[in-house]
Amino acid sequence: NRQQHLDNRPEGEAVVGNFKLVTAETPPLQDNQVLVRHHYLSLDPYMRGRMNESKSYAQPQPLGETMQGGTVGEVVESKHPKYAVGDKVVGFGGWQEYSVVDGNQVGALRKVDTTHVPLSHYLGAVGMPGVTAWYGLVKIIAPKEGDTVVITAASGAVGSAFGALAKARGCRVVGIAGGPDKCRYVTEELGFDACIDYRANPDIKTMSKALKEACPKGIDGYFENVGGYIFDAVLLRTNAFARVALCGMIAGYDGAPLPLNNPALILINRLKIEGFIVSEHMEVWPEALKELGGLVASGKLRPRESMAEGIESAPEAFLGLLKGKNFGKQLVKLV
Ligand code: NDP
Repeated sequence: NRQQHLDNRPEGEAVVGNFKLVTAETPPLQDNQVLVRHHYLSLDPYMRGRMNESKSYAQPQPLGETMQGGTVGEVVESKHPKYAVGDKVVGFGGWQEYSVVDGNQVGALRKVDTTHVPLSHYLGAVGMPGVTAWYGLVKIIAPKEGDTVVITAASGAVGSAFGALAKARGCRVVGIAGGPDKCRYVTEELGFDACIDYRANPDIKTMSKALKEACPKGIDGYFENVGGYIFDAVLLRTNAFARVALCGMIAGYDGAPLPLNNPALILINRLKIEGFIVSEHMEVWPEALKELGGLVASGKLRPRESMAEGIESAPEAFLGLLKGKNFGKQLVKLV
Protein backbone atom coordinates (compact mmCIF):
# COMPACT_ATOMS: atom_id res chain seq x y z
CA ASN A 1 0.00 0.00 0.00
CA ARG A 2 1.74 3.16 -1.19
CA GLN A 3 0.99 6.33 0.79
CA GLN A 4 1.91 10.00 0.62
CA HIS A 5 2.87 11.40 4.02
CA LEU A 6 3.29 15.01 5.03
CA ASP A 7 7.01 14.97 5.79
CA ASN A 8 7.57 18.64 6.71
CA ARG A 9 5.56 21.86 6.68
CA PRO A 10 5.84 24.48 3.92
CA GLU A 11 7.83 27.62 4.50
CA GLY A 12 6.06 29.98 2.12
CA GLU A 13 4.85 28.16 -0.98
CA ALA A 14 4.24 24.43 -0.69
CA VAL A 15 6.73 22.23 -2.60
CA VAL A 16 6.94 18.57 -3.66
CA GLY A 17 9.59 18.06 -0.96
CA ASN A 18 6.93 18.59 1.75
CA PHE A 19 5.60 15.13 0.90
CA LYS A 20 7.15 11.67 1.14
CA LEU A 21 6.11 8.48 -0.66
CA VAL A 22 6.03 5.56 1.78
CA THR A 23 5.14 1.87 1.37
CA ALA A 24 3.27 0.15 4.21
CA GLU A 25 1.59 -3.20 4.84
CA THR A 26 -2.21 -3.19 5.18
CA PRO A 27 -3.04 -4.80 8.55
CA PRO A 28 -5.30 -7.92 8.67
CA LEU A 29 -8.99 -7.06 9.08
CA GLN A 30 -10.67 -7.06 12.50
CA ASP A 31 -14.39 -7.70 12.92
CA ASN A 32 -16.58 -4.98 11.30
CA GLN A 33 -13.71 -3.64 9.24
CA VAL A 34 -13.54 -3.47 5.44
CA LEU A 35 -10.61 -3.12 3.08
CA VAL A 36 -11.21 -0.55 0.35
CA ARG A 37 -9.15 -0.32 -2.81
CA HIS A 38 -9.12 3.35 -3.84
CA HIS A 39 -9.80 4.02 -7.50
CA TYR A 40 -9.64 7.81 -7.23
CA LEU A 41 -8.25 10.30 -4.73
CA SER A 42 -9.66 13.82 -4.52
CA LEU A 43 -7.25 16.75 -4.36
CA ASP A 44 -8.85 19.84 -2.80
CA PRO A 45 -7.66 23.38 -2.05
CA TYR A 46 -8.45 23.05 1.71
CA MET A 47 -5.58 20.57 2.03
CA ARG A 48 -3.11 23.45 1.67
CA GLY A 49 -4.38 25.10 4.86
CA ARG A 50 -4.02 21.87 6.79
CA MET A 51 -0.36 21.57 5.80
CA ASN A 52 0.32 24.58 8.05
CA GLU A 53 0.82 24.29 11.79
CA SER A 54 -1.64 27.07 12.66
CA LYS A 55 -5.04 25.93 13.83
CA SER A 56 -7.95 26.83 11.59
CA TYR A 57 -11.49 25.42 11.55
CA ALA A 58 -9.85 22.04 11.01
CA GLN A 59 -6.89 20.47 12.84
CA PRO A 60 -3.57 20.60 10.99
CA GLN A 61 -2.50 17.51 9.07
CA PRO A 62 -0.14 15.59 11.42
CA LEU A 63 3.45 15.16 10.23
CA GLY A 64 4.66 11.69 9.31
CA GLU A 65 1.14 10.42 8.61
CA THR A 66 -0.81 9.73 5.44
CA MET A 67 -2.29 12.94 3.99
CA GLN A 68 -6.01 13.05 4.62
CA GLY A 69 -8.44 13.27 1.73
CA GLY A 70 -11.60 12.02 0.08
CA THR A 71 -11.51 8.78 -1.91
CA VAL A 72 -13.83 6.56 -3.92
CA GLY A 73 -13.20 2.89 -4.44
CA GLU A 74 -14.33 -0.66 -4.12
CA VAL A 75 -14.63 -3.04 -1.17
CA VAL A 76 -12.11 -5.84 -1.78
CA GLU A 77 -12.42 -7.62 1.60
CA SER A 78 -15.12 -7.32 4.24
CA LYS A 79 -15.74 -8.40 7.82
CA HIS A 80 -18.80 -6.15 8.09
CA PRO A 81 -22.30 -7.51 7.37
CA LYS A 82 -23.40 -4.31 5.57
CA TYR A 83 -20.53 -4.24 3.06
CA ALA A 84 -19.85 -6.88 0.40
CA VAL A 85 -16.88 -7.34 -1.90
CA GLY A 86 -17.50 -5.25 -5.02
CA ASP A 87 -19.51 -2.51 -3.31
CA LYS A 88 -18.57 0.95 -4.58
CA VAL A 89 -17.96 3.35 -1.70
CA VAL A 90 -17.08 6.97 -0.96
CA GLY A 91 -14.90 7.60 2.06
CA PHE A 92 -12.10 9.61 3.53
CA GLY A 93 -9.34 7.12 2.88
CA GLY A 94 -6.47 9.57 2.37
CA TRP A 95 -3.56 9.78 -0.09
CA GLN A 96 -2.97 6.04 -0.35
CA GLU A 97 -3.95 3.08 -2.50
CA TYR A 98 -5.91 1.12 0.13
CA SER A 99 -7.57 1.88 3.45
CA VAL A 100 -8.95 -0.21 6.29
CA VAL A 101 -12.22 1.30 7.50
CA ASP A 102 -14.42 0.61 10.52
CA GLY A 103 -17.80 -0.04 8.89
CA ASN A 104 -19.59 1.01 12.09
CA GLN A 105 -18.06 4.47 12.25
CA VAL A 106 -20.77 6.98 11.36
CA GLY A 107 -20.12 8.68 8.03
CA ALA A 108 -16.87 6.80 7.37
CA LEU A 109 -18.17 5.01 4.27
CA ARG A 110 -21.14 5.56 1.98
CA LYS A 111 -22.23 3.09 -0.69
CA VAL A 112 -22.92 4.70 -4.06
CA ASP A 113 -24.75 3.70 -7.21
CA THR A 114 -22.71 4.03 -10.40
CA THR A 115 -25.54 3.19 -12.83
CA HIS A 116 -26.11 6.81 -13.90
CA VAL A 117 -23.25 8.66 -12.20
CA PRO A 118 -19.60 7.68 -12.85
CA LEU A 119 -17.75 6.73 -9.65
CA SER A 120 -15.25 9.61 -9.88
CA HIS A 121 -18.05 12.22 -9.89
CA TYR A 122 -18.84 11.29 -6.28
CA LEU A 123 -15.69 13.25 -5.38
CA GLY A 124 -16.75 16.24 -7.45
CA ALA A 125 -20.14 17.36 -8.75
CA VAL A 126 -22.05 14.70 -6.78
CA GLY A 127 -19.82 14.99 -3.73
CA MET A 128 -18.31 17.53 -1.38
CA PRO A 129 -17.61 20.27 -3.99
CA GLY A 130 -21.11 19.93 -5.46
CA VAL A 131 -22.73 20.24 -2.02
CA THR A 132 -20.52 23.27 -1.37
CA ALA A 133 -21.94 25.00 -4.45
CA TRP A 134 -25.46 23.99 -3.43
CA TYR A 135 -25.13 25.30 0.12
CA GLY A 136 -23.70 28.68 -0.87
CA LEU A 137 -26.26 29.18 -3.61
CA VAL A 138 -29.39 27.85 -1.95
CA LYS A 139 -28.82 28.71 1.72
CA ILE A 140 -26.80 31.94 1.50
CA ILE A 141 -27.38 33.59 -1.87
CA ALA A 142 -30.98 32.26 -2.02
CA PRO A 143 -31.58 33.70 -5.50
CA LYS A 144 -34.86 34.74 -7.02
CA GLU A 145 -35.57 34.00 -10.66
CA GLY A 146 -33.84 36.60 -12.84
CA ASP A 147 -31.15 37.45 -10.26
CA THR A 148 -27.59 37.88 -11.52
CA VAL A 149 -25.12 35.65 -9.69
CA VAL A 150 -21.33 35.59 -10.10
CA ILE A 151 -18.79 32.93 -9.15
CA THR A 152 -14.99 32.81 -9.25
CA ALA A 153 -13.01 29.64 -10.13
CA ALA A 154 -16.00 29.02 -12.39
CA SER A 155 -14.56 26.12 -14.40
CA GLY A 156 -13.59 24.13 -11.31
CA ALA A 157 -15.30 21.47 -9.23
CA VAL A 158 -17.43 23.87 -7.17
CA GLY A 159 -17.89 26.39 -10.00
CA SER A 160 -19.23 23.94 -12.57
CA ALA A 161 -21.84 22.57 -10.16
CA PHE A 162 -22.81 26.11 -9.16
CA GLY A 163 -23.51 27.01 -12.80
CA ALA A 164 -25.96 24.16 -13.33
CA LEU A 165 -27.72 24.77 -10.00
CA ALA A 166 -28.07 28.51 -10.64
CA LYS A 167 -29.33 28.01 -14.22
CA ALA A 168 -31.94 25.58 -12.87
CA ARG A 169 -33.18 28.45 -10.66
CA GLY A 170 -33.54 30.89 -13.58
CA CYS A 171 -30.53 33.10 -12.75
CA ARG A 172 -28.22 35.01 -15.04
CA VAL A 173 -24.95 33.24 -14.23
CA VAL A 174 -21.59 34.89 -14.79
CA GLY A 175 -18.31 33.09 -14.21
CA ILE A 176 -14.77 34.35 -13.68
CA ALA A 177 -11.95 32.03 -14.71
CA GLY A 178 -8.32 32.03 -15.81
CA GLY A 179 -7.68 32.05 -19.55
CA PRO A 180 -9.69 31.84 -22.78
CA ASP A 181 -9.95 28.01 -22.83
CA LYS A 182 -11.52 27.85 -19.38
CA CYS A 183 -13.86 30.75 -20.21
CA ARG A 184 -14.98 29.08 -23.44
CA TYR A 185 -15.70 25.88 -21.55
CA VAL A 186 -17.66 27.78 -18.88
CA THR A 187 -20.02 29.37 -21.42
CA GLU A 188 -20.17 26.72 -24.15
CA GLU A 189 -20.22 23.52 -22.10
CA LEU A 190 -21.36 24.57 -18.65
CA GLY A 191 -24.03 26.92 -19.98
CA PHE A 192 -23.04 30.09 -18.08
CA ASP A 193 -24.37 33.30 -19.66
CA ALA A 194 -20.95 34.95 -19.65
CA CYS A 195 -17.42 34.36 -18.38
CA ILE A 196 -14.71 36.92 -17.61
CA ASP A 197 -11.04 35.99 -18.02
CA TYR A 198 -9.30 37.50 -15.00
CA ARG A 199 -5.89 37.07 -16.60
CA ALA A 200 -7.01 39.54 -19.29
CA ASN A 201 -8.47 41.82 -16.57
CA PRO A 202 -5.64 41.84 -14.02
CA ASP A 203 -6.65 44.78 -11.80
CA ILE A 204 -9.70 46.20 -10.10
CA LYS A 205 -10.30 48.79 -12.83
CA THR A 206 -10.38 46.39 -15.80
CA MET A 207 -12.25 43.73 -13.81
CA SER A 208 -14.91 46.13 -12.66
CA LYS A 209 -15.42 47.32 -16.27
CA ALA A 210 -15.74 43.72 -17.48
CA LEU A 211 -18.25 43.02 -14.70
CA LYS A 212 -20.33 46.04 -15.69
CA GLU A 213 -20.63 44.66 -19.23
CA ALA A 214 -21.38 41.09 -18.13
CA CYS A 215 -23.82 42.15 -15.39
CA PRO A 216 -25.83 45.06 -16.81
CA LYS A 217 -28.37 44.80 -13.97
CA GLY A 218 -25.72 44.62 -11.24
CA ILE A 219 -24.91 41.63 -9.03
CA ASP A 220 -27.43 40.10 -6.61
CA GLY A 221 -25.40 37.12 -5.45
CA TYR A 222 -21.68 36.40 -5.33
CA PHE A 223 -19.98 33.09 -4.60
CA GLU A 224 -16.41 33.88 -3.57
CA ASN A 225 -13.69 31.29 -4.14
CA VAL A 226 -10.62 33.41 -4.82
CA GLY A 227 -10.31 36.72 -2.90
CA GLY A 228 -8.04 39.67 -3.72
CA TYR A 229 -8.82 42.35 -6.27
CA ILE A 230 -11.58 40.26 -7.88
CA PHE A 231 -13.51 40.37 -4.59
CA ASP A 232 -13.09 44.16 -4.45
CA ALA A 233 -14.23 44.55 -8.07
CA VAL A 234 -17.33 42.42 -7.53
CA LEU A 235 -18.35 44.35 -4.39
CA LEU A 236 -18.27 47.56 -6.42
CA ARG A 237 -20.93 46.09 -8.73
CA THR A 238 -23.24 44.62 -6.10
CA ASN A 239 -26.85 45.73 -5.88
CA ALA A 240 -28.38 46.78 -2.58
CA PHE A 241 -29.04 43.75 -0.33
CA ALA A 242 -26.85 41.42 -2.39
CA ARG A 243 -25.71 38.22 -0.68
CA VAL A 244 -22.12 36.96 -0.67
CA ALA A 245 -21.31 33.32 0.08
CA LEU A 246 -17.71 33.36 1.28
CA CYS A 247 -16.54 29.88 0.36
CA GLY A 248 -12.82 30.13 -0.33
CA MET A 249 -9.95 32.56 -0.92
CA ILE A 250 -7.58 30.37 -2.89
CA ALA A 251 -5.46 33.26 -4.20
CA GLY A 252 -4.07 33.61 -0.66
CA TYR A 253 -3.68 29.94 0.37
CA ASP A 254 -0.06 29.55 -0.67
CA GLY A 255 1.12 32.91 0.67
CA ALA A 256 -0.08 35.92 2.60
CA PRO A 257 -3.81 36.45 3.35
CA LEU A 258 -5.49 38.97 1.05
CA PRO A 259 -6.96 42.25 2.28
CA LEU A 260 -10.38 43.60 1.37
CA ASN A 261 -9.74 47.15 0.26
CA ASN A 262 -13.14 48.79 0.59
CA PRO A 263 -15.23 47.23 3.39
CA ALA A 264 -17.37 50.40 3.43
CA LEU A 265 -19.16 48.89 0.42
CA ILE A 266 -20.65 46.28 2.76
CA LEU A 267 -22.46 49.10 4.53
CA ILE A 268 -23.19 51.24 1.49
CA ASN A 269 -24.80 48.33 -0.39
CA ARG A 270 -26.24 46.67 2.79
CA LEU A 271 -24.55 43.37 1.89
CA LYS A 272 -24.92 40.08 3.70
CA ILE A 273 -21.60 38.23 3.72
CA GLU A 274 -21.54 34.76 5.21
CA GLY A 275 -18.66 32.32 5.41
CA PHE A 276 -19.40 28.60 5.64
CA ILE A 277 -17.76 25.18 5.84
CA VAL A 278 -19.72 22.53 3.99
CA SER A 279 -18.88 19.70 6.40
CA GLU A 280 -20.68 21.60 9.18
CA HIS A 281 -23.99 21.36 7.32
CA MET A 282 -24.45 17.62 6.92
CA GLU A 283 -28.24 18.10 7.18
CA VAL A 284 -28.39 19.47 3.60
CA TRP A 285 -26.22 16.78 1.98
CA PRO A 286 -29.00 14.31 1.06
CA GLU A 287 -31.15 16.97 -0.61
CA ALA A 288 -28.18 18.56 -2.36
CA LEU A 289 -26.73 15.24 -3.57
CA LYS A 290 -30.12 14.21 -4.92
CA GLU A 291 -30.41 17.36 -7.04
CA LEU A 292 -26.77 17.16 -8.18
CA GLY A 293 -27.08 13.45 -9.07
CA GLY A 294 -30.19 14.29 -11.12
CA LEU A 295 -28.38 17.06 -13.00
CA VAL A 296 -25.48 14.73 -13.88
CA ALA A 297 -27.74 11.78 -14.80
CA SER A 298 -29.83 14.00 -17.10
CA GLY A 299 -26.74 15.46 -18.80
CA LYS A 300 -27.47 19.02 -17.59
CA LEU A 301 -24.21 19.02 -15.67
CA ARG A 302 -21.21 17.53 -17.46
CA PRO A 303 -18.29 18.18 -15.14
CA ARG A 304 -14.78 17.98 -16.45
CA GLU A 305 -11.96 16.20 -14.62
CA SER A 306 -8.17 16.59 -14.55
CA MET A 307 -6.70 13.17 -13.97
CA ALA A 308 -3.21 12.55 -12.55
CA GLU A 309 -1.96 8.95 -12.70
CA GLY A 310 -0.70 7.05 -9.68
CA ILE A 311 -0.18 8.03 -6.04
CA GLU A 312 3.37 9.17 -6.87
CA SER A 313 1.92 12.01 -8.94
CA ALA A 314 -0.35 13.39 -6.18
CA PRO A 315 1.98 16.11 -4.76
CA GLU A 316 2.69 17.68 -8.13
CA ALA A 317 -0.98 17.55 -9.15
CA PHE A 318 -1.91 19.15 -5.85
CA LEU A 319 0.56 22.03 -6.26
CA GLY A 320 -0.79 22.50 -9.81
CA LEU A 321 -4.33 22.83 -8.43
CA LEU A 322 -3.22 25.77 -6.28
CA LYS A 323 -1.91 27.48 -9.43
CA GLY A 324 -4.92 26.78 -11.67
CA LYS A 325 -3.15 24.10 -13.75
CA ASN A 326 -6.16 21.83 -13.26
CA PHE A 327 -9.09 22.08 -15.64
CA GLY A 328 -12.14 20.87 -13.70
CA LYS A 329 -12.11 18.57 -10.69
CA GLN A 330 -8.55 17.46 -9.85
CA LEU A 331 -8.33 13.73 -9.17
CA VAL A 332 -5.62 11.10 -8.95
CA LYS A 333 -6.37 7.75 -10.58
CA LEU A 334 -5.04 5.00 -8.34
CA VAL A 335 -5.15 1.21 -8.64
P1 NDP B 1 -11.18 24.16 -8.38
O1 NDP B 1 -11.49 22.92 -9.11
O2 NDP B 1 -11.97 25.38 -8.67
O3 NDP B 1 -9.65 24.45 -8.54
C1 NDP B 1 -9.06 25.59 -7.99
C2 NDP B 1 -9.12 26.74 -9.00
O4 NDP B 1 -8.85 27.96 -8.34
C3 NDP B 1 -8.03 26.68 -10.05
O5 NDP B 1 -8.36 25.83 -11.12
C4 NDP B 1 -7.93 28.12 -10.50
O6 NDP B 1 -8.83 28.35 -11.56
C5 NDP B 1 -8.41 28.90 -9.27
N1 NDP B 1 -7.30 29.69 -8.73
C6 NDP B 1 -6.19 29.24 -8.14
N2 NDP B 1 -5.39 30.27 -7.80
C7 NDP B 1 -6.04 31.39 -8.19
C8 NDP B 1 -5.72 32.77 -8.12
N3 NDP B 1 -4.59 33.22 -7.57
N4 NDP B 1 -6.61 33.64 -8.61
C9 NDP B 1 -7.75 33.21 -9.17
N5 NDP B 1 -8.10 31.90 -9.27
C10 NDP B 1 -7.24 31.00 -8.79
O7 NDP B 1 -11.26 23.89 -6.80
P2 NDP B 1 -12.59 23.57 -5.97
O8 NDP B 1 -13.76 23.72 -6.84
O9 NDP B 1 -12.36 22.32 -5.25
O10 NDP B 1 -12.59 24.74 -4.88
C11 NDP B 1 -12.95 26.06 -5.23
C12 NDP B 1 -12.96 26.93 -3.98
O11 NDP B 1 -13.92 26.44 -3.07
C13 NDP B 1 -11.63 26.98 -3.22
O12 NDP B 1 -11.42 28.29 -2.77
C14 NDP B 1 -11.90 26.05 -2.04
O13 NDP B 1 -11.08 26.34 -0.94
C15 NDP B 1 -13.35 26.34 -1.79
N6 NDP B 1 -14.07 25.29 -1.04
C16 NDP B 1 -14.64 25.63 0.15
C17 NDP B 1 -15.39 24.72 0.85
C18 NDP B 1 -16.09 25.15 2.10
O14 NDP B 1 -16.67 24.33 2.78
N7 NDP B 1 -16.08 26.42 2.42
C19 NDP B 1 -15.53 23.33 0.39
C20 NDP B 1 -14.91 23.07 -0.90
C21 NDP B 1 -14.20 24.03 -1.58
P3 NDP B 1 -8.50 29.47 -12.66
O15 NDP B 1 -7.48 28.89 -13.59
O16 NDP B 1 -9.79 29.74 -13.30
O17 NDP B 1 -7.94 30.61 -11.90
